[in-house]
Amino acid sequence: MVRFMNVTKRYGELTVLDHLDLDVAEGEMVTIIGPSGSGKTTVLRMLMTLETINEGVIYVDGKPLTHMEKNGALVPASPKYLRRMRSQIGMCFQHFNLFPHMTALGNCMEGPVQVLGMPKAEARARSEELLELVGMADKMDQHPSRLSGGQQQRVAIARALAMRPKVMLFDEVTSALDPEVIGEVTNVIRDLVDAHNLTMLMVTHQMGFAKDISDRVCFFYDGAIEEQGAPEDLFGNPQRERTQQFLSAVK
Ligand code: ATP
Repeated sequence: MVRFMNVTKRYGELTVLDHLDLDVAEGEMVTIIGPSGSGKTTVLRMLMTLETINEGVIYVDGKPLTHMEKNGALVPASPKYLRRMRSQIGMCFQHFNLFPHMTALGNCMEGPVQVLGMPKAEARARSEELLELVGMADKMDQHPSRLSGGQQQRVAIARALAMRPKVMLFDEVTSALDPEVIGEVTNVIRDLVDAHNLTMLMVTHQMGFAKDISDRVCFFYDGAIEEQGAPEDLFGNPQRERTQQFLSAVK
């Protein structure tokens, strides 16, 4: 569903992603862990088309993300193509970025109505269903300022899902939360993993959560995958010295 092929990203002299190959299969939950500055968030930002690629190609659902195929060659994508590709990807950030002047329901309906052109009644029904899914059925009419951090993050997840993405990205979604509400957000993501065949890519510093929830964990070091595997293998029996050092430092 998602494929990074030989992707390099540089900021001036700094190489942030170094010939990265990464595949995420349909319905797979892959978590990226690694030291600060190893390029984890950059992977997500590139999928959101927020960064340009210096080398390589990213494919989403078999199509190049930022280029179009024309007469067998890849040419830079038109704005319309980019918008279509971009709409297949939903993202939740550390800071929820909800629209403060709209209710939880209004936040969820906004994208489907304004961007997808969905009729309001359909957007409302879908948003209500999703808010129920994330346990926010009784708070639909509240504005973000009246909600706790955990509740706002659950609305942000429902809002991203309302756009019917094929791929969901989670970037440190629990980092800004108080410890007592982290559980409610991790449970929502766990339910999504269990009940929906969504493809998900997550960056987290919470090793316990990564271990619990992922099909595969990738340990990043210096812009490349140093080691990857099933969580029980990567956490239980890491093979590479850098992985061992990182995991013993964060325990
Ligand atoms: P953290 O765990 O601290 O969030 P990360 O692994 O997610 O780190 P990235 O945010 O992907 O790391 O950043 C990788 C490197 O790229 C860092 O050294 C960062 O300073 C650098 N970087 C990120 N964005 C830019 C930018 N816009 N301009 C220059 N350098 C950048």
